[in-house]
Amino acid sequence: MSQHEQGFDPTLGSLPPAPEIVALTPPVPPSSGHMQVGQRQATLASPPPPTGCRTCAATPTDTFTFREVAGGFFTWKMKTTEGTFCGPCAQSLGRAAQSRTATTGWFGFLAAVINLGVIPMNAVGLRRAAALPANPNSSSLDPGSSFFKRPGAFVMLAVFGLLGFVAVSAATDSTKTIDRMNVGECFADPGLGEITTVEELACDEPHELEVFHRGTLMGFSSFPAEDVMFDVTDAGCIEAFAGYVGTSYENSSFYFSVISPTSLSWRQGDRDYICLLTPASGSTVGSARDSGR
Ligand SMILES: [Zn+2]
Repeated sequence: MSQHEQGFDPTLGSLPPAPEIVALTPPVPPSSGHMQVGQRQATLASPPPPTGCRTCAATPTDTFTFREVAGGFFTWKMKTTEGTFCGPCAQSLGRAAQSRTATTGWFGFLAAVINLGVIPMNAVGLRRAAALPANPNSSSLDPGSSFFKRPGAFVMLAVFGLLGFVAVSAATDSTKTIDRMNVGECFADPGLGEITTVEELACDEPHELEVFHRGTLMGFSSFPAEDVMFDVTDAGCIEAFAGYVGTSYENSSFYFSVISPTSLSWRQGDRDYICLLTPASGSTVGSARDSGR
C-alpha cells in the first residue's frame, strides 16, 4: 500500500501534511483512476514553477499595466505595456511610460483628459512595483531615477501650475476685455479714449456704467466718419433704451455712452458697439434694468 492509496482513504477528512508525501508520491498521470487525489498530490509534490519576470525571469513578480498617451491636435494614441514583471523591471518600464505620458499626453483636449486618468493609474502600478522585494539579476532592467526626477514630471507640474493659475485668475480677476461685456453687467468708468479692458463691478456696488445693449454696425464698406458712426450707434442705443430701463430716454435720469470700434479695431474686423447707461454724475447703485429711473 503506497502513501498514494492511503491518501485516497475516504475516512481521511483531508490529505496528510505534505512533506512526507512529497518525497514518496510518484506523479500520477491524468488518466489514473486516482486522478483527483493524484492531482492534488501532484500539486503538493511539485508546485508549478513560479512565473518569472517577463524581461529577466527574476522573482517575485506581479502583473503590471502601464500606459502612455501621445496627443496630437486632432488625434491621440495610447501605448500599453502589460505583463508579469519583477519590481526593478516594472519600475524601469513604468517610470519611462509615466515620464513620456506626462510629456506628450497634454496635446489635444481629449488626450489631456485621458492623460489625467492614465497618470494616477501608472502611479498606483509604480507603488506596487516599489513594494515588491527586489531580486535583480544581470538581465533585469535598471529602475533608473524616480519619475519626479524625470522631464515628464516637470512638464506635468508646469501643466498643473498653468491650469491652476488660469483657474485662479479667472475666478478672481474682474478685468474684462470689451468684447466680453454683456447686457446687464456693470463696470467702472474706464475714462475716455481707446480702451481694450474694463473693470467689472457687481451692480449692487457703486458703479458708473451698465451695459444695456450691444449692436453691430452694418452696411459700411470702410471705417465710417465718426459723426456718421455715432449717428448710427446713438440711434441704436436710443431704440433699445426704453426696453431695458423701463422708461424712455427723454424721461430717464440716466444718460448713455457708447463704446464703438476704432479705426484699428475696425481693420481687425470689429463692428460691435456697446451702449452703456451712466448716471448724470458720479456712480449709482443697483441695476437700472426695468427700474423706470
Ligand atoms: Zn525583471
